[in-house]
Amino acid sequence: MKTSIATVSISGSLTEKLEAIAAAGYDGIEIFEQDFIAHDGSPRDVGRMVRDHGLDITLFQPFRDFEGLPEPYRTKAFDRAERKFDLMAELGTDLVLYCSSCHPKALGGIDRAADDFAALGERAAARGMRVGYEALAWGRHVNDHRDAWEIVRRADHPNIGLVLDSFHTLARDIDPETIRRIPGDKIFFVQLADAPRIDMDLLYWSRHFRNMPGEGDLDVTAFMRAVMAAGYAGPVSLEIFNDQFRGGSTRGVAEDGYRSLMALMDDVRRTEPGLTLDMPEMPGRVRADGVSFVEFATRGDEAQSLEALLETMGFTKTGTHRNKAVTLWQQGEVRIVVNQETKGHAGATFNTRGTTVCDIGLAVADAGAVTARATALGTEPFAQPIGPGELDIPAIRGLSGSVLHFIDDRSGLADVWDVEFGAGTTPEGAGITRIDHLAQTMSYEDMLSWTLFYTSIFDMRKSPMVDVFDPDGLVRSQVVESPDGALRITLNGADSHRTLAGRFLSETFGASVQHVALATDDIFATAESLAARGFEPLPMPQNYYDDLAARFDIDPALLARMQTLNLLYDETDTGAFFQTYSRAFAGGLFFEILQREPGYAGFGAPNAPFRIAAQKRQRRSKGVPSK
Ligand code: MG
Ligand code: MG
Repeated sequence: MKTSIATVSISGSLTEKLEAIAAAGYDGIEIFEQDFIAHDGSPRDVGRMVRDHGLDITLFQPFRDFEGLPEPYRTKAFDRAERKFDLMAELGTDLVLYCSSCHPKALGGIDRAADDFAALGERAAARGMRVGYEALAWGRHVNDHRDAWEIVRRADHPNIGLVLDSFHTLARDIDPETIRRIPGDKIFFVQLADAPRIDMDLLYWSRHFRNMPGEGDLDVTAFMRAVMAAGYAGPVSLEIFNDQFRGGSTRGVAEDGYRSLMALMDDVRRTEPGLTLDMPEMPGRVRADGVSFVEFATRGDEAQSLEALLETMGFTKTGTHRNKAVTLWQQGEVRIVVNQETKGHAGATFNTRGTTVCDIGLAVADAGAVTARATALGTEPFAQPIGPGELDIPAIRGLSGSVLHFIDDRSGLADVWDVEFGAGTTPEGAGITRIDHLAQTMSYEDMLSWTLFYTSIFDMRKSPMVDVFDPDGLVRSQVVESPDGALRITLNGADSHRTLAGRFLSETFGASVQHVALATDDIFATAESLAARGFEPLPMPQNYYDDLAARFDIDPALLARMQTLNLLYDETDTGAFFQTYSRAFAGGLFFEILQREPGYAGFGAPNAPFRIAAQKRQRRSKGVPSK
C-alpha cells in the first residue's frame, strides 16, 4: 500500500514540506501547481527534488473546467490539457486530476462529457498520461461520484478513470457503499479527508475545515472499506484543506496525517472481511484501564509545597526510589510520584517548565502491544538509562514533550512499586480512591493532534467539543475516554493567553496536565477529613450557592454543608455530581476532588466558569498580576 499526501495539506516552503513528508514516512505526494509556481526552479528541478527525498509524485492537480463546454471554449480546454501534459512530463508524473466543471458555460449532459473524456483519453494515451475524473461536491452538473463514474464508464477509454474523494462523497451524504459497484481498476486515485459536521456552504466547508481521518465526524472508514472492497490498488492519499494546518507545524501536521492514515487502514483491514493489505502489522487499539501514576517534576520549595499539599489531601509517602531523588505518595489506588532529579527527562522538564507533570503512567491490558501500535503509527518510543534493580517499563513520547509509561499485570511491570520504591501497604487516607480524570491544556490549534493521538492508539472515544467561558475568553473542551470510563481525559484548548488555561500554557511553556481529578465515594467525609488536615479548598462565593438553590432542588441543610466545605454541584436526570478544588500551586496546577453518582457521565462543565472566576480571584489576592 502506497501512502501519499497533497502538498497543500501542510505549511512551509516546498523544500520544508518535502522534508517533513519524507520524514513522516509517506511514499509520495500529490503536487499542486501553486507549489512550483511559488518555487524558484523549473518543473524538472521540482520533480528531481521530490525524487531526491525518496518520494514519488502520485498525482498532479487540479485541472478545472474541462468537460461539457461549447466552442470555442472546448478547443481551448483541449489546448490547456496539452500544456499540462507537457508540464507533467517535465515533473515526471503520469496521472492528473480533473475535477468536475464549475464553468458557467458548461452545458451538462452525461454523453457530452463522456465524449469529451473519450477524446481526451486519445490525447493522453499519445503522451503516456492518465486522467482521473473527480466529482466536486459543488460541481455545476456533476457533483456525485455515481455520475462521474457513469461518465468514465461511457468514455470507455483505458487512460480515463475515476478519482474518489471521501469529502465529496460523505459531505453530501452519498452512500459510500455505492463505490462497491465500481471496478477497482477504473478507480485511478483515492483522496481522503474527514471534517467536523458543520452545516455550511460545501465549498467553504471543504476549503477551510477538512481534517485528518479520525479527527472529524465523517465515516471515512466506511468509505475506505468500500474502496478497498472494490479492488482498488493505488495510492491512499490525504488531501486536507485546513486553515489551522496551513498555519501549523509542518512536521507535526505531516506526522498527524501519517498516524491517521495508518490507523484508518488498520481499521479497514480489521473490519472489511477478506481483505489483505500490504502494510505493517500492528496490534489493535489497546484497552486503557486507568491512570496508574502521575509524576511531577519539581524541586526545592515547590517540591516541599507539593508534598505538603499531598499530605493535607490524605496522601502518605509510601516509598523512596532506590537510586533516585524520587518519592512515591499513595492513597487508595492513586499514586503520585514526586521527582526531584536534576538529570534525565524529569530534570530537563523542570528546567524548561518548572513544576509540572512530566510523566503519566497508564494501566493497560498489554504494555507491549500499546508501544508496538504507537510505534507503527509513527510515535517515538521513549527510553532512558535503567539503573540497577530498575524495571524497563515500555514508554512513548506523547505530544508537547510529554512521556507516557505503560504498566500491565501480565509482565510483572505492576511490581515496579515494590521493586524500585520498596512500597508497602497503603495506609488509611481521607477516602480518595482513584484518579477520575486528567485535564490537559493545549492551544486550540493543537487539540486535534491530541484527540487523534489518544483515539488512534487506545480504545477511546471522543465527545463533541463544548465551549467553556473564562471571563477573559473562550476555552474549548473535549473529552476522550475509554468505553467503560476507566480512563478519562479532558482536553482544553485555549485561544487566548488571557484565559486561565492560556496563562497556564504560557507560564509553563506548553506543559499539558493542568489538573488531576481524584475520586471519592463520600465527598462530605473526604472534605471534612481534608479540612482537619489543613487543606485549603478553593473558596466559592455566596452567589454561587444562591444560584444553586435557585437552579436545583437541594435540601437547605445539605446546601449549607456544601457551602461550608466549598463543594460545587451539578446534576443530570441520571445522577448527581459534587466537586471541590485545591488552590492553585506552582504556576497554575491544581487538584480536583469529586464524587460522581454512577449515572453522571459529565465533568461539572456548568461549574467551570465559576471555578475559573474563583481561581482568578485567588490569583489576584495573592498579588499575581492578572495581565
Ligand atoms: Mg479532491
Ligand atoms: Mg475536572
